[in-house]
Amino acid sequence: MSKSKVKDIKEKLLAERELLVQKLKGSDLSVDDSETPDPVDLAVRNYSKNVQLAVSENESRQLSSIDEALMRIEDDEYGLCQNCSKEINQKRLAAIPWARYCLDCQELLEKGLLDEE
Ligand SMILES: [Zn+2]
Repeated sequence: MSKSKVKDIKEKLLAERELLVQKLKGSDLSVDDSETPDPVDLAVRNYSKNVQLAVSENESRQLSSIDEALMRIEDDEYGLCQNCSKEINQKRLAAIPWARYCLDCQELLEKGLLDEE
């Protein structure tokens, strides 16, 4: 992969990373427990807290994928499948710049046939 292409991808990753960090910061998980809420209120709060947790879990996972991709750029390993070390399809990388696996291995992963590190 050309250096300028990698630079483009790095910028894309950093921009995406910034967005995620802002989103994660924005999701305030602290609940004010100073007053005793009525049970309905509490249930609603717990529900939205769970939803928020699920959302930030996804985002945290994506954030670490982005961080890993950035590290691979630093190590000159960017664009290589983390399982079979083959080059990942350029179109795939354009769509998902933080992709860790080539299509074949991604398929294995989705079928549960690949052990993730
Ligand atoms: Zn692979």
